[in-house]
Amino acid sequence: MLRLRAVELARMVREGEVKAEEVIEAFYERVAKVDGKVRAFVRLIKERALEEARRIDQTVAKRGRLGKLAGVPIAIKDNICIKGVEVTCASKILAGYRPPYDATVVARIKAEDGIIMGLTNMDEFAMGSSTENSAYGPTRNPWSLDRVPGGSSGGSAAAVAARMAPLALGSDTGGSIRCPAAFCSIVGLKPTYGHVSRYGLIAYACSLEQIGPMARTVEDCALLLSIIAGRDPKDSTTVNPPRPFNLSEVKGEVKGVRIAVPKELFGEGTEPRVAEEVWKAIHLLEELGAKYEEVSMPSLKYALATYYVIAMSEASSNLARYDGVRYGFRANAEGDWSKVYSKTREEGFGPEVKRRIILGTFALSAGYYGRYYLKALKVRSLIRNEYLSMLKKFDVIISPTMPTPPFEIGEKVEDPLSMYMMDVDTVPVNLAGVPAVSVPCGFIDGLPVGLQVAGRFFEEAAILNVALAIETELKLYSKEPEVA
Ligand code: GLN
Repeated sequence: MLRLRAVELARMVREGEVKAEEVIEAFYERVAKVDGKVRAFVRLIKERALEEARRIDQTVAKRGRLGKLAGVPIAIKDNICIKGVEVTCASKILAGYRPPYDATVVARIKAEDGIIMGLTNMDEFAMGSSTENSAYGPTRNPWSLDRVPGGSSGGSAAAVAARMAPLALGSDTGGSIRCPAAFCSIVGLKPTYGHVSRYGLIAYACSLEQIGPMARTVEDCALLLSIIAGRDPKDSTTVNPPRPFNLSEVKGEVKGVRIAVPKELFGEGTEPRVAEEVWKAIHLLEELGAKYEEVSMPSLKYALATYYVIAMSEASSNLARYDGVRYGFRANAEGDWSKVYSKTREEGFGPEVKRRIILGTFALSAGYYGRYYLKALKVRSLIRNEYLSMLKKFDVIISPTMPTPPFEIGEKVEDPLSMYMMDVDTVPVNLAGVPAVSVPCGFIDGLPVGLQVAGRFFEEAAILNVALAIETELKLYSKEPEVA
């Protein structure tokens, strides 16, 4: 059961071959068995999930209509709102906060009869690349328990990799879906900006982020995307794409596909063995009829700096609302409101979040605004334009997802710059707004390597198609971590 794909599970539940309740029980049993070691989940909602499962089983018994996710368990990142369920962004400051509404993605999953199992660990407010910046402590990589699962959606990725859930949702502001997907050897997709509603996603940097699907196979990832994508009147940045995402276009057929391979994304800091694995996959695609060309995208060398100025600026503004009055935690403080406010923020936020609020506030302050924030916006346009012109000549852009295999817990967390450097290959895509997927492409000494495919606005089908070709050749989904 634990090895079945979401598409198979849903079909079996719909056709009465297995009960949704049994499916749910099996996955919670797996959680009970391995999550003490992995620590992917921060909150389980078993009672609700079982109620849902029973409702679905009754519908099956009455031969009623069921949705595309009938009975499929799904893990959700701890920054996506479920009505009445505590959500904390892995931060002390939100402790006890229960949103009064469902995020649109949650409502869409429920409408297709998917079952949410619980919320997964993450870097506090999605700030990080390792899931170590969490008030709950780190999640561990199922492939090697002393290493990080990547971040910030590390709990979601680890849950899927360790067979605790067939599907998960993450959010990706600068790589937070693709990084942990690469480090845990699963598939993770950041949709085109505006393709998936952010209503009910607790904001970090609104102009960069999207919620996206994570799964063990490309097909499952595509299925979940097809359910959450599309315009939502509650998020005015969403649109109905020119052509709606069509699952049937994801066939793994790459004959004639034109691939750009930018040398900047194999730059300094890229471990040669990672580059080697990615190149092997590119040559595989060539054998299957794709054509590649090495190219240069000179503006990419500014991407990391640009990203961090914009992300921190937006974060400093978005996180101003946590004042101890409206949400969650309030410190015990005497005196006027400003003392309560300061003490709440001092005790409630972790060190990385504070660092970013301070830097972001500085970048936006009078006198420095033009020098940092405005300049970053201009460079962002250059990067975006470079992507658009590259994607006129080529169908997709391929690179490593991460420059190295998963690193050890504790290795980088005290050195923020070395952590930020991990994001060099993922952030450009968020600045440009285009979609990108990470697909497993190899292992180095037992540690996963991911390959990133980026493509044109709203052409998720095209990048998933290339990812599927790689998956079909390498079949890495059949490899399992030994955590037991
Ligand atoms: N690691 C990046 C950051 O810390 C990306 C995080 C994300 O995508 N949420 O900002």
